[in-house]
Amino acid sequence: MARQFFVGGNWKMNGSVEQVKKLVEMLNGFNVPANTEVVVAPPALYLDRVHQNIKKEIKVAAQNTYIKASGAYTGELSPQMLKDMGLEWVIIGHSERREYFKESDELVGEKTQFAIEAGVSVIACIGEKLEEREANITNDVVARQMKAIAKYVKDWSKVVVAYEPVWAIGTGKVATPEQAQDVHAYLRKWLAENVSQKAADETRILYGGSVNGANCKTLAAKPDIDGFLVGGASLKPEFGDIINSRQ
Ligand code: PEP
Repeated sequence: MARQFFVGGNWKMNGSVEQVKKLVEMLNGFNVPANTEVVVAPPALYLDRVHQNIKKEIKVAAQNTYIKASGAYTGELSPQMLKDMGLEWVIIGHSERREYFKESDELVGEKTQFAIEAGVSVIACIGEKLEEREANITNDVVARQMKAIAKYVKDWSKVVVAYEPVWAIGTGKVATPEQAQDVHAYLRKWLAENVSQKAADETRILYGGSVNGANCKTLAAKPDIDGFLVGGASLKPEFGDIINSRQ
């Protein structure tokens, strides 16, 4: 089964009523190829506004959810609430959540499975820090992060893995297509050996980290790169080129 190309846009904590209106207009003007799945993740407060106004070819994701359906968890959102609002996707374990909000590998695994059980698909993020790459332990780090996710996940058809080297996120330093391909191939092998051949063959593995309109095509040409998770450039017109990078 061919893996459908996937492009996610992570708006992070950016936007205003005015900017959201402009971004939705921009997105609605993009060509979305039939063989490409596009999902954008606005800040929680704007989720419904974007969902109500965006064309049906583009889906909307939250940037985070918690491991409870409801209750005394001030400031959190549940995947059940996303479902209730007609939203189908959430980003879990982004490196900024891991770094600034101290999310552990274990919590990322739990959040991933909890969202799936609620009927929400997950973009699960992993990736090594600069010092880990320099210490030549990239594969060990991503394997540890994958293991924590695989411990919980039962249905891999609801997971898209985003490999995002932390040193490449928001820095303008993009991994070379070869560096990215090497890790993607390793992750696919890891899935084959630790989950199943089916999960290895069918799970989309995205690259994230300073993807832009200029570098997307060479990255997209690599056999194990099934799409992108895009931060900064998802707020710019070049996001349209990234969506069309597999053409
Ligand atoms: C991200 O936030 O997931 C990301 C990859 O950011 P950027 O594209 O800005 O590096």
